Amino acid sequence: MQEGSAIQLQVKTILNRIQAFVGFVYQDVRLCAGLGNAEQIEITVVPHGGIRGRCSACRRPAPGYDRLPERRWLFVPLWGIQTWFRYAPRRVECAEHGVAVEYIPWSDGKRPVTRAMMGFLARWARRLSWRETAQAFQTSWEAVYRSVEWFVEWGLEHRQLDGVTSIGVDEIHWGHGTKADNFLTVVYQSDAGCRRLLWIGKRRSEKTLRQGLKALGPEVVQGLRFVCSDMWKPYLNVLAAEAGQALHVLDRFHITMHMNQAVDEVRRAEGTPPKGQEQRGGQAAQEYALAVIAQRKPGAWRSPKEAQRASRQQAEHRSGMGVEGSLPALLEVQVPDLGRRLPRLLVPPCHAQSPGTDAESCPHVAQP
Ligand SMILES: [Zn+2]
Repeated sequence: MQEGSAIQLQVKTILNRIQAFVGFVYQDVRLCAGLGNAEQIEITVVPHGGIRGRCSACRRPAPGYDRLPERRWLFVPLWGIQTWFRYAPRRVECAEHGVAVEYIPWSDGKRPVTRAMMGFLARWARRLSWRETAQAFQTSWEAVYRSVEWFVEWGLEHRQLDGVTSIGVDEIHWGHGTKADNFLTVVYQSDAGCRRLLWIGKRRSEKTLRQGLKALGPEVVQGLRFVCSDMWKPYLNVLAAEAGQALHVLDRFHITMHMNQAVDEVRRAEGTPPKGQEQRGGQAAQEYALAVIAQRKPGAWRSPKEAQRASRQQAEHRSGMGVEGSLPALLEVQVPDLGRRLPRLLVPPCHAQSPGTDAESCPHVAQP
C-alpha cells in the first residue's frame, strides 16, 4: 500500500467497503454480552437522512409512513464472534401498493438471517455437513438448511441457460430395492467449461424426463446439439421426440456392457473362434464375434472384413481403451437389435463435452 493511502481501520470501514447499502448507514458497532455471556457484535443500521425508503413490492421511493419495532438479523461472524444487524424497518406509503414495509437490501422477507450470512452458510454447506456448518458458525441446523434452500431458490431464479448445447441424462438409484421410487432422473449440462446439475426429478419414466426438459424450456431443448444418456428406453423415446435435432451420444459404460454381453452370446452360439485367433487375445475374439454378427445380420452395412478392419482402425486410434476400441462396428449391429428408434446416433464418447467439435470434423462419428 502506498504511503498516504493507509486508513485507520475500523469495523465500520470494512462494512462500508464490502457491504455498503444505498440509503442506509452503519451507525455503530458494539461488542456486547449475549446469551450465556458469550460475546456478540451488534451493528446498528439507520436510514440515510436524505434518501427515502423504497416500497418492498416495487422498489420505488415512497413517502415514509411509520416505523416498526427493531429487528435483528444474523450476519457473517467476525473473528468467530456471532454478529448481528439491528434495524427498525420503516413502512412507506406507496402510490401503487399502499402502506408497505420498506425494501431492506440485506433482508429477505421475515428471515432472521442476512442474505450475506445465508450465502456464507450455503457455501460452507457444500464443503461441510449441515450439522458441522451449524456448529462451526454457531448457528442452528435449521438456519443452515434454510440458507441452502434460499441459496438454491436464488440460484434458480438467476440461472442463465443460454449457451447450453450439451446435456446428459442419467438415472440415480437410491435406497434399497428397485421400485420406481428408488430412482431419480438427473439432467446436467456437459459443455466444456460448464458442467452443472440442471434438474433432478423423481423416478426414471418418460414423464419424469419430459418434466425435466419442460423445466429447461423449449429454447434450451431446441438449441441442444449433443445429448448423452444410457440406453434406458424411456429416455431414448423422450430424447428422440423432444431433441431429435441433437446428436445422441450413448453412455460409454452401458455400451461396453451391452457389447460384452453380445460378444458372449455370439461366443456361446458359435463355439470357439478358429485356432490362432483366440491366442491373439481378446481383441481377436471380438473381431471374430463382430464378424459373425455382421454376417448374420442382413441389415448390417459392413462386410465382416470391413467390420474387422474398422474395428482394428478404431483400436489403433484409441490404444489403451481396451474392449471399447471396436465399438462402432458393433453398434451398427447392436442398435437395430434393441428395437428402439434413436435420433441420429453417435457412438464414441469423445464429443459430448466439447461444443467446439461437430459431427463433420470428428473422425469417430458414426451416422446412419
Ligand atoms: Zn410499491
